[in-house]
Amino acid sequence: IPVDPFDLVIFGGTGDLAQRKILPALFRRYCAGQWNDDVRIIAAARSAHDQAGYRAIVAESLAQHAPRQAADPGNLDGFLNRLQYLRLDASSDDGWENLSGQLTDLRIRAFYFSVGPGLFAPLAEKIRQHGLANEQTRIVVEKPFGHDLDSARALNATLASYFSENQIYRIDHYLGKETVQNLMAVRFGNMLFEPLWNSQYVDHIQITVAETVGVDGREEYYERAGAMRDMVQNHLMQLLCLIAMEPPAKFDSDAVRDEKLKVIRALDPVQPHHIVRGQYSGGPDGPGYREAVGNPRSTTESYVALRAHVSNWRWAGTPFYLRTGKRLVARSSVINVIFKDAPHSIFGAEAGRHANTLSIRLQPNEGITLKVTIKEPGQGGMRLIDVPLDMSFAEALGPGNQEAPDAYERLVMDVIRGNQTLFMRGDEVEAAWAWTDPIIAGWQARGDVPKPYDSGSTGPGDAELLMKRDGRHWQGIK
Ligand code: NAD
Repeated sequence: IPVDPFDLVIFGGTGDLAQRKILPALFRRYCAGQWNDDVRIIAAARSAHDQAGYRAIVAESLAQHAPRQAADPGNLDGFLNRLQYLRLDASSDDGWENLSGQLTDLRIRAFYFSVGPGLFAPLAEKIRQHGLANEQTRIVVEKPFGHDLDSARALNATLASYFSENQIYRIDHYLGKETVQNLMAVRFGNMLFEPLWNSQYVDHIQITVAETVGVDGREEYYERAGAMRDMVQNHLMQLLCLIAMEPPAKFDSDAVRDEKLKVIRALDPVQPHHIVRGQYSGGPDGPGYREAVGNPRSTTESYVALRAHVSNWRWAGTPFYLRTGKRLVARSSVINVIFKDAPHSIFGAEAGRHANTLSIRLQPNEGITLKVTIKEPGQGGMRLIDVPLDMSFAEALGPGNQEAPDAYERLVMDVIRGNQTLFMRGDEVEAAWAWTDPIIAGWQARGDVPKPYDSGSTGPGDAELLMKRDGRHWQGIK
């Protein structure tokens, strides 16, 4: 369904995120017919480019990040013709009059803040000061949203002084992933799962976000953030919310976000012995973390594993194990819901113990698998094996349509549609920081040093112990 005509201003239009994600997403949606020629995209940044020079840079990015669509010159020219470049400084008045002259009256006007977080507040102020906000204005704010609870509160307060909450779109791109939305469809669109979705039937839940990359190119930011701030406070927390939340009365932005907020507020503080921090050492693939950031004494974690508890009626006693890390053996994001064993085995000890697992794979091979127990084919006895009931998106979408849409495609179009369901509300972000801050403060107070782990491994051995102590084990990253 095509969206209404809009003006979109991308602050930071020459940056990595704009070139790699935002512009390719807009381009793919253009090629899919979701918006047409009556749209204006204005890329604004500090450096000087003429229109042709900027369009050439974007054409190169599109060829790299949306190659199938960019191979059609009609598509490419059509898109580039909608694109204007504007030199502008977010922290002074340079360029703002020009921007004002390019915007169309009385239509949707979105401002995407794809710049460093230090510029979020100045941009909000400049937009108001130069009278660029209209009734239909939305702002899109990238991560990181704050560094801790105090800074997140301050940023929320500043943005709230210029825009109302229903104009502020805080991005967590994990929420735009097709499988993450499918998680809600599976939970709330089927009768099969919801009756079993509680501590009586679920043994535990594992959420893994494993990366193979290191901190390359983001050293300065990462050294101040670490895995807890960079990944757990936002992405893993959002995944946990979608797994643990109560069914909202309807799929609308406040109903969904109210339920997510209740989950975050129900989280117990994490006990120090329920958390493992790690830091990667060097290997054949590259230098270790400390060398990469140029700080031989760094105590920033590039890995976290922890056991969380949602203290409410549904989840009392069911652990949620979360882990994320860099330079691990494989790139893999997966949520595993491990159900309890059948209460009694009629097949005897020989059949072994089997538990159903629902795996929600965010990457690679987006899809959902339910592991069920069946009889091992053949004649002798009754031996049981586990087989997957597999729903892979690539297969479900059918031949010739193998591309699951990128998270940013969905999210940018939702901004235009005015749908905030897949964006974080201010109170959610603050609640997440309120849970994260004491963990980080505890490390600082104790002078905690992360455990080293080999690049290309599954993380520090202590993370295995965290599970082993509970009689459980991590399901493989690969
Ligand atoms: P970047 O450094 O590549 O780009 C920054 C952009 O901001 C450039 O276009 C630059 O010209 C512009 N800019 C800087 N100062 C400016 C000023 N005073 N006035 C106007 N423009 C100015 O950064 P990035 O990687 O594209 O990240 C942008 C934002 O998105 C950051 O907040 C980052 O944390 C967030 N983010 C990035 C990624 C990613 O993959 N790159 C992922 C998630 C979130």
